[in-house]
Amino acid sequence: MHELRRALRRGSSMETLGLVPTMGALHEGHLSLVRAALEGCDRVAASIFVNPTQFAPGEDFAKYPRTFEADCALLEQAGVHYLFAPTTEEMYPPAAETFVDVPKIGSRLDGASRPGHFRGVTTVVSKLFHIVQPDRAYFGQKDAAQVAVLQAMVRDLNFDIELVVCPTRRDADGLALSSRNRYLSEAEREQALAIPQALCDAAESIGQGDSSSAIVRATLRHDLDAAGVRVDYTCVVDARSLEPVTEVRAGSLIAIAAFIGSTRLIDNFVVPIDEEVAE
Ligand code: AMP
Repeated sequence: MHELRRALRRGSSMETLGLVPTMGALHEGHLSLVRAALEGCDRVAASIFVNPTQFAPGEDFAKYPRTFEADCALLEQAGVHYLFAPTTEEMYPPAAETFVDVPKIGSRLDGASRPGHFRGVTTVVSKLFHIVQPDRAYFGQKDAAQVAVLQAMVRDLNFDIELVVCPTRRDADGLALSSRNRYLSEAEREQALAIPQALCDAAESIGQGDSSSAIVRATLRHDLDAAGVRVDYTCVVDARSLEPVTEVRAGSLIAIAAFIGSTRLIDNFVVPIDEEVAE
């Protein structure tokens, strides 16, 4: 990758390089990032790496869906120029001991439920940034806490990389696309619709002028409880700092993590900056 990067820099055209980091098991959400990267950059690299350090013990690392051949075909079809798909040993040789940590923001939301998760994410993403050296890197809004943690990391460690955040892609019925949706039975898939429904109802109540976070969270809870969904968290936080806010305002992140059977799903929306939230 370093040689390739040097060659691209040597080229007289000064081509820009975009990076789309993924863990594979690709779906339309990943491909929307690829398309945004192809629009914004001359060359696009995707990476596929199921990163062991972001899975806590007992999580689904071993059974995480791996569909490498199909992923390659999708990326090629989409027009990606380069694929970086290292082995675990290449990314973490036995002597490796350096981690990157964003301790405060990284311990909120999914960081609270999955201790060590964001330390794994920031470590692997910094490694990918150093390896690929992209001008821009593309991430999905679906993982809103990940976006906040990576924005802090890029700021604090002075990465000369622009983070581009792309909207959440959904199935026609509203369920956010996720590689983990493959784990769901038909009945569970139906039950999972309570998550986007709860977010819709919360958005509606905000639109009607409810600006109290407690009321918004009660709406989320009510919908999820009614569907028999086991809630991990519901929260109303500042989208950048992930700190809880008592009043919903433009830029507030409304987020859910919930278990459908044994599958943990997340979803969220950010209150638009230009929207009048409260009277
Ligand atoms: P993953 O393979 O789950 O690590 O995801 C790789 C990238 O795709 C991350 O930046 C995710 O936020 C993004 N992503 C996952 N699902 C979606 C979705 N439904 N819409 C948009 N981006 C997504």
